[in-house]
Order: sequence, then structure tokens, then C-alpha cells
Amino acid sequence: MSREIRAARGNTLVAKSWQTEAAMRMLMNNLDPEVAEHPDDLVVYGGTGRAARSWEAYDAIVRTLETLESDETLLVQSGKPVGVFRTHEWAPRVLIANSNLVGDWANWPEFRRLEALGLTMYGQMTAGSWIYIGTQGILQGTYETFAAVARSLGRESLAGTLTLTGGAGGMGGAQPLAVTMNGGAALVVDVDESRLARRVDHGYLDEYTTSLDQAIERVLAAKDSGEALSVGIVGNAATLFSELLARKVAIDIVTDQTSAHDPLAYLPEGIDFADWKSAAEADPAGFTEQSRRSMAKQVEAMVGFQDAGAAVFDYGNSIRAEAELAGYDRAFAFPGFVPAYIRRQFEEGRGPFRWAALSGDPADIAATDRAVLELFPEDTALARWITQASEKVHFEGLPARICWLGYKERHLAGVKFNEMVASGELSAPIVIGRDHLDSGSVASPYRETESMKDGSDAIADWPLLNALLNTASGATWVSIHHGGGVGIGRSIHAGQVIVADGTPLAAEKLERVLTNDPGTGVMRHVDAGYEHAADIARERGLRVPMWEG
Ligand code: NAD
Repeated sequence: MSREIRAARGNTLVAKSWQTEAAMRMLMNNLDPEVAEHPDDLVVYGGTGRAARSWEAYDAIVRTLETLESDETLLVQSGKPVGVFRTHEWAPRVLIANSNLVGDWANWPEFRRLEALGLTMYGQMTAGSWIYIGTQGILQGTYETFAAVARSLGRESLAGTLTLTGGAGGMGGAQPLAVTMNGGAALVVDVDESRLARRVDHGYLDEYTTSLDQAIERVLAAKDSGEALSVGIVGNAATLFSELLARKVAIDIVTDQTSAHDPLAYLPEGIDFADWKSAAEADPAGFTEQSRRSMAKQVEAMVGFQDAGAAVFDYGNSIRAEAELAGYDRAFAFPGFVPAYIRRQFEEGRGPFRWAALSGDPADIAATDRAVLELFPEDTALARWITQASEKVHFEGLPARICWLGYKERHLAGVKFNEMVASGELSAPIVIGRDHLDSGSVASPYRETESMKDGSDAIADWPLLNALLNTASGATWVSIHHGGGVGIGRSIHAGQVIVADGTPLAAEKLERVLTNDPGTGVMRHVDAGYEHAADIARERGLRVPMWEG
């Protein structure tokens, strides 16, 4: 079924309040063809991450949000609206639970069986929780990660280096721009030419080719001259990573963001691109086996690059775990990106904080950019990011911005934006949320919580406490998901979104939610024994009972 969805812009409400109008516009924005990877199938990003279970469910959600009162709450079970309850005005307007399964049943075959029966959907992280903002959402984190990689190599930037990666999809497509924003050269492999073409159209990738020789020549010339350049190459990552290793191409950094978390969303060698969907549907178990074998081949090449001296890391797609399932025993020879580069930021409650302008007017985001620069004048990395993003980031769907802010910082931005809505400086309310790739709201042993100091990687109480606290603090919608990022059985995570509509009530809610939400990240890391997190808690006044004297 082909339908073109686009969120309304401007100040005219269809729903009864900005709280519900915001949820409706953000659901629609997730399905905007500029934003979603496969909108006809309700797929937003990350393999099969959906915004709603079916078009029928989508229509029912929209219908319900249009009539929902300010003291009612809509419950959404894996993309389907299932009930409306009387609550109160501080309660979330929507509560969402996506893809959750009881432990022993939490595997892909069982999930797919239930999905085929129409009983569940895969919500990924921000797809089913209606706060995906296109590839920019991941760009800044990717930019920060590559900046940290450069520092770990003793460099100020990536100038003079070559990065090899796979996957130019919704999230992976941020990689080439993140590398070039850091001054480096990048070679990006994707089997789907249309994904590479889309990244070029949106300014995330400089160029692409179908000739490996030409691609190698272009990126090596850029590396040698210290030029920032990204080149896409159409091909299978399993084949091309091995080929590049065999040819001894001088690659400095290697990672991957194909959709390896879902073996059916990774194209194995030996299956033509055109037959992908039908082959996966005809024999999911056989396809899974074949795709894991290809992932093992790709990971073996990655380990080969590491052995040859490159910096290699898993970029949060479970490719090591899948390769191990295929029997490759050195799959975990290289680390995940969180313990390698990001954990210290998580200790401060820092993570991807994002907002979108419901007006649809880019001038509103420009005004919030200026406000953020004024609020945090001492943060030079933030200033560098906001300045570059305002020049280089092409908006997809509603204009939006992302930056990393931590505990006792985010609420300053939220309250300021609310004042700007109230004063008329912004032409309509702002929606504020975050990724589930976050410091306090996720349990994901192959990614965010890999190698925790106290071994608590798989403890999933933390995201549940985060969701409960956000619900109790006044968030506009709150979600609890399973399986996002790394796949079914491998993560539990929570999200929150809050609307700055310019009212005094919103100001109070913003202050609490945007303090408490990142506060759970600091708390989680204090509890796991991270000294830096404990310092942050002490300095910024977070009470952690077991650490109080
Ligand atoms: P996506 O499904 O939109 O894109 C995946 C891309 O991989 C597609 O373009 C597909 O054509 C390509 N691909 C599949 N098999 C391939 C193969 N064998 N060779 C080359 N290309 C192949 O997914 P996405 O949203 O870009 O996410 C990619 C992965 O990154 C997912 O596993 C996701 O869970 C993970 N992820 C990581 C982070 C992070 O911060 N590190 C954040 C979000 C998602």
C-alpha cells in the first residue's frame, strides 16, 4: 500500500492540545518519505524498525490522538493502540511498549512467528517511539566517536587517515559525513545502490561508484593529500572487506553498520540483491545461516585489519555476536565502540539529546542553535558541532537538531526553549527527546553496557526504572522496548519525549524530566563503581543512597 505521510507544519492544531498534536506530528514525521527508509512498509530505519504495526493501527492511533483529552493516556502495544485511560495532566499522553518478549521466548524465530500472526512489531529504538529525526540523529554521536578514535591514535583530526566501513542506511549513512567532518577519507560499502545515491543527494556522502579500483584510487589519493573525502562502493561487505585486506590497501580504521543485528536484513554472499526479500521469506532459517557465514567472513577480515595495525571496533550492530554464532572464534578480538570511546560521556549522563521544530520552520532551529551556544559558552566541542551542523546538515522531515548534553545541562536547554515558545521567539512548540542509545535507559551487553565495571552488563532493571521515573516526572510520551540496535534477545531500553509548548506547566515538567532522565545515567554508572560518575553526582547534587556517608 502506498501512502504519502507528512507531518503538518505551522500553528493550527488538529488535536486538542500541543501534547497530543506533537505525538501525532512526530509519528507522521517518522513516516515522512524524507525521513523513513521504507515508508510504504511503515519501516523507519534499522532493518525493520516500524512506527506502527499496520496502516489500520496507524489510522487508529492518529484518530485517537486527535480526540485525546489532556487528562487521558493512550496505550500502544507494539505499534497498535489498545486502550485509552483517564489519568491526569502530569501523566504522559502516550505510553508505549514495543517488541517485549518473556526471556525464554526472546529470539528472532519466535519474534517473527508472532509478528507474522500480527501480534507484535519491531520498534527499534526511535522508530516505534516516534522521535527519529533522520540520519542527523546519529550523526553527532558518530562524529564524536570518530573524533575520539582520532584522539586515541594521537591525532588532532582524521586528516591523512582512511576509514573503511559497511552500511549506508538510516544510521550507517551518517558515517561518511562524520569522517569527513573530522577531516578524514572514508570508503563505505553498501549492497544497495539506492542507499548510496540517497546519501549523496542528502549531502552525507560525496560520491559513489561501482568500480572498486576507482574507489580505492580516489580514497587513497585523498588520504595521501590529507583531503576530507567520502566514497561509496556498491558491493557486499563480506566480499569487499576481504578483498581490500587481501590487496593490503592502507586502511587505518575499520568498522561496520550494516543491519547485522537482524540476519534477514544483512545480505549474504551468494544471493542476488534482487532476490533478497523473497529468499529471506522463503527460508528464514537457511538465510540466517548463510548471512551469519558471510558476517563471519566480514568479521574475520576486520580482525585481519586489526592484526595489521588498524583501529577496529564494532559499531553497535551485533556483528561480532552473529559471527561467533557462525563459529568464528576470534569475533570478539576487537571492542565495541562504547567501552572503547563513549563510556566516560555516559558517566556524566551525556548522550544524544535532540529536538524538533513543530512549526516546520528552519528559522526555529537556527534560533535554538543560537540559544544553545549562549547557554554553554565554555563547551568548545559543542560549539564546533552546532556551528558545523547548522552549515552542513540537511534537514530530513521536520527541522531538528541533536547535540550531546549531560546531567544538569539538558533542563537548561529545555526550559530556555519553552521560554522562547512562550515569548513568540519560536513560532510553534518544540519537541524534545533523545535516542535510546543513552547512558541510563538501556541494558545492552553488546553495546551500551558492554564490559561494565561491575559485570552488570545484562541487568535490565535500569531501563525500566528510567521509564517509570520519566512517567512520574511528566514526560509527554514514554516507551519501553526490547531488541533495539542489537536485535531481539539482546537489549531492553526506554525512551522519553517531552513537549515545550510555552506553558508554565511545561516548564515545570521540562525541568524535572530533563534533570531526572540523564540523572539515571549518572546513577547507573555510580552504582557500577565508576569514580568519575561518583564525582559528577557529588558535584552536581545527585543523591545515591548507597554512596552517601
Ligand atoms: P538500515 O537497515 O537502514 O541500513 C543497513 C544497510 O546495510 C542497508 O543500506 C543495506 O543495504 C546494507 N547492507 C545489508 N547487508 C549488507 C552487506 N552484506 N554488505 C553491504 N551492505 C549491506 O540500518 P541502519 O539504521 O543504518 O542501522 C545499521 C545498524 O547499525 C543496525 O544494526 C543498527 O541497529 C545499528 N545501529 C547502531 C547505532 C550506533 O550508534 N552505533 C545506532 C543505531 C543503529
